[in-house]
Amino acid sequence: MENKTICAISTPIGAGGIGIVRLSGKNAVKIANLVLEKEIDTAKPRFLQLNKIKCDFFSDIVLSSYFKSPNSFTGEDVVEINCHGGVLICQKILEELIKNGASLAENGEFTKRAFLNGKLTLDKAEGIIDLINAESEAQLASASHLMDGNLTQEIHQKQQILTEILAELEVILDYPEHDINYTTLSGFEEKISKIKGEISNLISTSKTGMLIKNGINVSIVGSPNVGKSSVMNALLNFNRAIVTNIAGTTRDTISESYVYEGIKVNLLDTAGIREHPTDTVEEIGINLAKNSINSADIVLFIVDGTRNLTAEEHELLNSLKNKNVIVVVNKSDLNTKEFSFNYPTILVSALNKTNISELKKQINSLVITNNVFSNETIITNTRHKVSLQNAEKGLSDALTTLTQTQALDLVSIDLFNAYSYLGEITGESNRENIIDTIFSKFCLGK
Ligand code: GDP
Repeated sequence: MENKTICAISTPIGAGGIGIVRLSGKNAVKIANLVLEKEIDTAKPRFLQLNKIKCDFFSDIVLSSYFKSPNSFTGEDVVEINCHGGVLICQKILEELIKNGASLAENGEFTKRAFLNGKLTLDKAEGIIDLINAESEAQLASASHLMDGNLTQEIHQKQQILTEILAELEVILDYPEHDINYTTLSGFEEKISKIKGEISNLISTSKTGMLIKNGINVSIVGSPNVGKSSVMNALLNFNRAIVTNIAGTTRDTISESYVYEGIKVNLLDTAGIREHPTDTVEEIGINLAKNSINSADIVLFIVDGTRNLTAEEHELLNSLKNKNVIVVVNKSDLNTKEFSFNYPTILVSALNKTNISELKKQINSLVITNNVFSNETIITNTRHKVSLQNAEKGLSDALTTLTQTQALDLVSIDLFNAYSYLGEITGESNRENIIDTIFSKFCLGK
């Protein structure tokens, strides 16, 4: 356990009804007793006590509570002081605690201590960061599954099976006089293949997982005046982009997000792409538009339904061959032409907001392939994905060695590698620098 007793304001900075200042460490009770009127350990642990805190030149009526080690979030003695939620009140209480021997906590230090004291696995701790930072319902759902230990459980199950195989291999390697029969080898092969398949399935959820975490990036492209800004505004349901009948109005890229059926969607309205821009600013905008296509998960190709496509539009559409494209035929409130494209196509009126919900539905269903609100584990974290890929590689190597050479000592090494990579996810076999990087992403007081 760390020696320092740490403190921080755990509620957001700003005026509110209540603010919470937290202390954790072996001197938490001693320090709290120096500033509180009633001694904190005279109350039952985990019960609130009406108390008073004395600072330099003022006092506040507070509710204090005390969590005795190891039965606390961090596993250490923890004191929580619920004071009135003014910026200065919390600040002064914090200063008073520091004056009496506490140190200011670093970002995420409470959760880091919880991890180091075995109260949480690393992936559960990451679930807490994601839960705090969630901006959509899908993020909340996946973060709470992570925090609840769904992934930890899957990892532990796989490690358990690997341990059993490794133990069996160990016996065979230690007693070479016993013959290895075909049934034993194919039994290993079957078990390893099964875990490998399960890991591949987990990895395949990461496509949806990354979209849950970062939102679906949608780039709105097309010629000038087809209604790109109007479609953006209709999707957002407020006027974010300027709409005019003057071609070349949108010059920079404009971004804004909305949430549909629990998934965050990041829209990027771009400058109308045309071959002969009127000036350098428009030209820069057009280049930005072209670049945004590369990083988009989906391209909405907007066309003006009242006229046929120009040669330039055909060319632009052809250049999108490898992208997820939805062709949006706009201005359905006017007389529109018949179109046939090799992409999903939808007829809308941005002006009248006709078919806009259908468009939102199409955007989500084009790239979200898992049910984000089921109990299925979805990988939303790149670190987890990389460790799973490494573990999968270890298992793959083990299978190759097993079937081609039957060198069981080498199989054992590959399986052990896979086991360790899985352990990186839960933090049960990891290096200090990974841990520091993860906890620095937390806010203060958590
Ligand atoms: P952008 O240059 O592609 O971003 O196009 P804008 O959104 O600025 O729209 C260009 C013109 O088309 C404006 O005069 C809009 O009012 C008009 N417009 C956009 N969407 C519609 C629509 O659904 N129906 C009709 N009738 N006009 C539209």
